[in-house]
Amino acid sequence: MKIAFIGLGNMGGGMAANLVKAGHEVHAFDLSPDALARASDNGCATYTSVREAVQGAEAVVSMLTNGAIVDSVYGADVIGQAPQTALLLDCSTIDVATARKVAAAASTAGYAMVDAPVSGGIAAANGGTLTFMVGGDNAAFARAEPILAAMGKAVIHAGGSGAGQAAKICNNMILGATMIATCEAFAMAQKLGLDPQVFYDISSKASGQSWSMTSYCPLPGVGPQSPADNDYQGGFATALMLKDLKLAVAAARDAGSQVPMGTRAEELYEAFAAAGNGGLDFSAIIRTL
Ligand code: NAD
Repeated sequence: MKIAFIGLGNMGGGMAANLVKAGHEVHAFDLSPDALARASDNGCATYTSVREAVQGAEAVVSMLTNGAIVDSVYGADVIGQAPQTALLLDCSTIDVATARKVAAAASTAGYAMVDAPVSGGIAAANGGTLTFMVGGDNAAFARAEPILAAMGKAVIHAGGSGAGQAAKICNNMILGATMIATCEAFAMAQKLGLDPQVFYDISSKASGQSWSMTSYCPLPGVGPQSPADNDYQGGFATALMLKDLKLAVAAARDAGSQVPMGTRAEELYEAFAAAGNGGLDFSAIIRTL
């Protein structure tokens, strides 16, 4: 397929490369010349504007920074510029309201569109092992699935328009809260005189177990290899966790949903990021406890 790819940053760069590897003709655009040069090295054809990149496209995939950018890129340069038959797939993590607004504008103009945010970081984007959570109607999902499968290990239909974003932020709200809970338990266990490895051995097989503990333990030397073993470099940046928690708390406000744990996690990550830790892996919040 001829696929336009907009946004070739940390995540989009590897995703576009995987579409090339799967045999697609990828027409790439990013505002950053460095990102474009990397995409060219990876076999993408590069363009100097979104409008040029989407000409003749059978699908348009975007991996952009936030909802305002997604809204403006689709509003100004994709809708009405790409062929009406092109399937539009936004893989960025953005707010549910903007995802629904852009999809509705696309639909009014005759396009099918899905929101398809991802779980998994840069390594999964490069390795083609992302999980996609997809919002859109059944027909759009059926068209999106094979394209997304070339970039991921799982493609799940979450529901109608915006449902992918809803699933993503609800999931990451659990992740933020359980990471802090896991960090405070490890810190307290040590203050109470427990060996952290012994506590891990017990809690990982008991009801305190969670992904934050057994797949991503925030303590160095305990559990599987994780960013904690690399001085909290790499992994999932605190700034990105904060972004997702802000989206979650805003969505909860709009939906009239009570999220006391999500709200507290947002406050704690906000303070941690403001203290200059935005670039550290989010499990580094254990240092504050
Ligand atoms: P990034 O900043 O590395 O990449 C974003 C890219 O978009 C940049 O290269 C930027 O130049 C480009 N861009 C911005 N405005 C543009 C425009 N108007 N036209 C064309 N290109 C434009 O960010 P990232 O880490 O790749 O994240 C992308 C999205 O994926 C975000 O929504 C993020 O929340 C989400 N996400 C990231 C991770 C992660 O671990 N990095 C994990 C899951 C989801």
